[in-house]
Amino acid sequence: MPYNKITTNHLDQLKSLNPRLEISNLKEDIQNASHDETEDFNYPPEAVIFAKSTKEVSQVLSFAYENNIPVTPRGAGTGLSGGALAVCGGIVLSLTKLNKIIEIDEDNLFAVVEPGVITQNFQEAVEKIGLFYPPDPASKGSCTLGGNLAECSGGPRALKYGVTKDYIYGVEAVLPNGDIIQTGGKLLKNVTGYNLTQLLLGSEGTLGVITKITIKLLPLPKHKQTLIIPFGSLEAAAKMVPIAFKNGLTPCAMEIMEKEAVQCASEHLGKSFPNATAEAQLLVELDGNDLGVIEKDLEKITELAMNHEALDVLIADTSAKEKEIWSIRRACGEAAKKDAYYKELDTVVPRASLPKLISGVKKICQKHQVTSICYGHAGDGNVHVNLLKSGLSDEKWQKELPIVTQEVFELTVSLGGTLSGEHGIGWLQKEFLPIAMDKLVIDAQRKIKSAWDPKNTLNPMKIFPTQ
Ligand SMILES: Cc1cc2nc3c(=O)[nH]c(=O)nc-3n(C[C@H](O)[C@H](O)[C@H](O)COP(=O)(O)OP(=O)(O)OC[C@H]3O[C@@H](n4cnc5c(N)ncnc54)[C@H](O)[C@@H]3O)c2cc1C
Repeated sequence: MPYNKITTNHLDQLKSLNPRLEISNLKEDIQNASHDETEDFNYPPEAVIFAKSTKEVSQVLSFAYENNIPVTPRGAGTGLSGGALAVCGGIVLSLTKLNKIIEIDEDNLFAVVEPGVITQNFQEAVEKIGLFYPPDPASKGSCTLGGNLAECSGGPRALKYGVTKDYIYGVEAVLPNGDIIQTGGKLLKNVTGYNLTQLLLGSEGTLGVITKITIKLLPLPKHKQTLIIPFGSLEAAAKMVPIAFKNGLTPCAMEIMEKEAVQCASEHLGKSFPNATAEAQLLVELDGNDLGVIEKDLEKITELAMNHEALDVLIADTSAKEKEIWSIRRACGEAAKKDAYYKELDTVVPRASLPKLISGVKKICQKHQVTSICYGHAGDGNVHVNLLKSGLSDEKWQKELPIVTQEVFELTVSLGGTLSGEHGIGWLQKEFLPIAMDKLVIDAQRKIKSAWDPKNTLNPMKIFPTQ
């Protein structure tokens, strides 16, 4: 559907609707909103609006709906699937200034927050009073809770504690036509009607703009222990993952990094990683309230690892060391993209299929002479495959990239997996969706989108393949 361009008349109308609306067409704001962390896309919107209340979000959406102008919601722009790109122009609606922690309810173990709160700020606020919000995307220092909901973000601790959707019990959202709805609440049980809260989660800003969030909290575990297990091959590290679970261990994180990921992240930060020359590392975190249980689990995992090709088991014995190791793991994504051209795939398979996925990815990349760096949330079967242009000519890279992507996705699906574990489909992966999803399932979702957004003004051209 062709959209209208924003005119000065439109901007004047919006201003007269609400003189306090913060509308910007400053070069710097347009430039910041024209990309996210996905490859090297550049889609400048025509205007950026910084919402400061639900009412303002509603005013902008209903105006855009009436005037057939596309709107792209945006948090911090750390997305890795292009969801926040204004691919049809129009308005980028930034939620970063809607950033209050409204309430932390210690009696009911719930919090109510606005979407622009930075994830780590929220975690630190609840941890100060002994509470815990586990979802911890590696970008937690900069991403927003609204973006986390829209992508249903995961992170290392998803393994034991689940992903964003497991903690969200209600939202306030503004629908594409400007209507404001409230769903759920501080209720641990609620089967009253369809679960619209969960429908909005992971909908990548295509069904509504989230303006308030009700979050379940847990008591903060008292103890944790981080360990590093180096291996002589990536496959050996991957094989260890299901073995740990089969033997009754429930670590709260089990991350995998291949040597190149560790090396480029260490260099990027100017920090050193123990045993960095090993071909692969597992980074394991155990947590709980009973130190004795953690110590027993530590002994058990050490014994299992040493019986299954581990080169060593190293314990982070100070919190400074632990922080340093985690900072290297969190930097892998950014550091692996040191090449100007890259593509990050977010493959996920059942945990036990991880060794087959990793060895298959390496074979595909070798066949097409494309460099790959793998790391990710091994305990969830979720591996990020960074494809790098490295020494390839522009022509070869353009030719091989879609083929390698297609082959990696086909392999993933053949192993019972799917295209994205936590980054979403967005703009980047949408043409590959039919590899993982039946036409009937895609059509059922298109129907939901057109029922909620018949004029397709909210974040158009995302998730679904071009028809
Ligand atoms: C270095 C790095 C590490 C990362 N690690 C992880 C990881 O471990 N796990 C993980 O899951 N992801 C990870 N990510 C991806 C990214 O950080 C997450 O997807 C994050 O949730 C995006 O949040 P954001 O605020 O930046 O959202 P944006 O990128 O601004 O937007 C993402 C999507 O959310 C929509 N959106 C934003 N706010 C709202 C709202 N209020 N209402 C409706 N829709 C909205 C946008 O339209 C877009 O579709 C990583 C990214 C980077 C750069």
